[in-house]
Parts: sequence; C-alpha cells; structure tokens
Amino acid sequence: MSTTAPATAVSWFDRAAAVTPGGVHSPVRAFAAVGTPPIAIADAHGAHLRDTAGRTFVDYIGAWGPALLGHGHPAIEAAVVDAATRGLLFGLAGADEVTLAERIVARVPGCQMVRFTVTGTEATMSAVRVARAATGRQTILKFAGGYHGHADMFLVAAGSGAATFGIPDSPGVSSATAADTAIAQFNDLDSVDRALAAARGRVAAIVVEPVVGNMGCVVPEPGFLEGLRERCSRLDIVLIFDEVMTGFRVARGGAAERYGVTPDLVTLGKVIGGGMPLAAFGGQWSLMQRVAPAGPVPRGDVCGTSAVHRGGARRARRHRRKARSLREPRRGGARLQAGLEAGARAAGVDVSHSGSGRCGRCIASRPVRGWADASAVDRDAYALLPRHAVLRSCSHPRPSSRPSSPPRTTMA
Ligand code: PLP
Repeated sequence: MSTTAPATAVSWFDRAAAVTPGGVHSPVRAFAAVGTPPIAIADAHGAHLRDTAGRTFVDYIGAWGPALLGHGHPAIEAAVVDAATRGLLFGLAGADEVTLAERIVARVPGCQMVRFTVTGTEATMSAVRVARAATGRQTILKFAGGYHGHADMFLVAAGSGAATFGIPDSPGVSSATAADTAIAQFNDLDSVDRALAAARGRVAAIVVEPVVGNMGCVVPEPGFLEGLRERCSRLDIVLIFDEVMTGFRVARGGAAERYGVTPDLVTLGKVIGGGMPLAAFGGQWSLMQRVAPAGPVPRGDVCGTSAVHRGGARRARRHRRKARSLREPRRGGARLQAGLEAGARAAGVDVSHSGSGRCGRCIASRPVRGWADASAVDRDAYALLPRHAVLRSCSHPRPSSRPSSPPRTTMA
C-alpha cells in the first residue's frame, strides 16, 4: 500500500513546516510514530473528524481525552456560546468558578481544595512547588516512562512524545534540574526504596500517573499504590497523583477512587474542561492553604479559567454524569478492548490490551508492567494500525453535511 498522501495534505504540511517547527504545535500531531504525513482537521462532529482533504475518520483519539462526549455536543456548544456572550476574560474572579470547584471537591478523593490552571503542565508544576514548600526539600521522585507535562523537572526519563522520539533526557534541561529528579520503576517498590535511600531525607514528593497512560495505560499491580502511600506517610513525603489523563475516566473520581488510595495532592486536566483548556491541582487543605494568596507559594494566571472555559466544563460535567455510556465507563472500555482483541486475533496478530476503565491501549504481544516492557514494544508493528486506518480513509468522499452513518475507517 502506498504511503503517499493526497496533494492537499502535503501542501498543507509543507506550508506549516515552513513557519512552525516540525509543522505542528505539539509533537505527537506530526505522526512520526505512525509513519504517514500528518492530517489537518477541518471540522469534527460527534465521533467523526474530517480533514482538509475531505477524508472522514472515526475519532478514537478524542483529543487525547477531552472529547469524551464527542465533538460539537449541542449542550456544550450552547454553554460556551452563552458564556462568551457575557464576556471572555475578566482578570477577576467569576461567580461561577466556585460551582465547578465545589463539584470537583465533592467528587475527587482527598481533594479538599482546588486551584484551576490552564494546562496539565502548570498543574503538575504547581503541585510540586507546593510539596517542596511544605517539606522544605528539593528532590522529586518520578517513574521512568511517566509523563507529567513539559516542565524541565519532568523531562527526565519521560514518556509520551519524549518516549516516541526516544529522547528520555531532553536537551535544554539543566543538569542541576535533572539532579533534583530521582527515577524509579513503576510497579517496582524495591526500585522506589533504592531511590529513596539514595536521596535520603531530600525527597519532597513522589509524582505518579496511577495508571500510566503515557506508557500504554499500564495499570498498578495490587499493593503498588498502597506501597507508595505507606512510604510517603512514613517519610513525610507528599504523594501526588497525576490524574491529568485518568481523572474522571478510569472512574468518576479518577484512579484514587478506582484503586482506593488517596494522594495528598492530585492534578487534573484534559477531560475536566470538556474540550476547553482547563486543568487543576488540589488536595489536602493544609497543603493547598500554602498557595497564594492564602499562603506564600506563588501561582498566577492572566488567562486562566475564563468564564467560557468554565461554562464548557460545567456543562460537560453535567452531561458526562447523564450519559449512559459514561455511567458505566469500565463496561464501555471493556467492549472496545474485546473488539480490538477479537479483530487482532482474527487477523492472526498477537496483542494484549492494557488499561483501566476508558483508558486503554492495544500495545504488545505480552503484558506491560513497566518501562522496560513498554520500551521493548515493536513500534513498527504498533504503528500499522493507525497507519492503515489513516490510509484506508483516503478514498472516502467529503460528506456534504454532518456524517449520518459511520465511515468504514476504524481509527484515526
Ligand atoms: N500529565 C499527564 C499524565 C499527561 O498525560 C499530560 C499531557 O499529556 C500532562 C500532564 C500535561 O498536560 P498539558 O499538555 O495540558 O500541559
């Protein structure tokens, strides 16, 4: 099968590459791991995306999480338009932000107070700052292959785009910053103990994706999260669950609810905004009271939490609660998993699925429990599914209006 893209896509990407590094504004959009030219989206409705070449795709990416209710949900669109007509950004507090904060506090275990940010990166950076301020220590312990955004301290043995491109230690990160980041292996408490011993008395926080989405949705083995909790409590270390990917997804209260382990701080993003740029960090009252202006830890945002973002987020939350498929998130995830596995088996391909709830991925022919397994995955084989899904769609004509029946394409 040819990997040549239609002329329109190439000319779009050529133009983009001339004015933007790599032609995209976030690395995974370049499709480097997929092995096709990237696609540029013209519009999206429900479960479908349409690109500038008129091809229609079933969207299994879902904006990497936020588009959980599909694109252009009428109630969310209406809430956003309604909020926009009342002013975009005030640089002042908004009366409605308390409602959203109250709902998050009511829903997420251990989250007694919450502060909104725009991106997940800001949320994780801020949570670490609070932990350092509270403990008076410098070092953070993270897990190889875990991704917590693009702040310098996290770009050490990072997953996600960094893993895709094989840049575990990023240029541009100072050695002093990297020295403050200790690394352990997910699902391996002995490696945690070794790292804690090597940095004895210096560890402010353990930061963990409780289900490691950025390594292929690797689930915690029984006792692992509990083991982190026990060590943090014993050594006065702040336990931070980065639930930017798992929040409201693996369960309505996130992985903390699903696995019954309560962190000291939690970070949220992606799904929380229902497609609008919104994220948050929150946790124990005594820690969150350190954040300015209640306490001395700086944290500000000119463009943070506009009324429009909050309007979309509140409406998305209400509809997530009502949507039948989301009331049973794990059941929906399990159906998709079973279908993908059956399809692979019928094609004679050996895959194993990893994940929890609506976070899942077909990743390898054997189970993945940590970074060693994830980095040994046959990436060329893994790329075949998205590559062929994208290429098969080339023959689809541009629908004249919103698609009424699903196109044949299986994945974008
Ligand atoms: N934490 C996790 C677990 C993520 O998956 C991501 C993004 O992929 C981030 C943090 C950073 O979020 P953002 O891209 O909104 O800065």
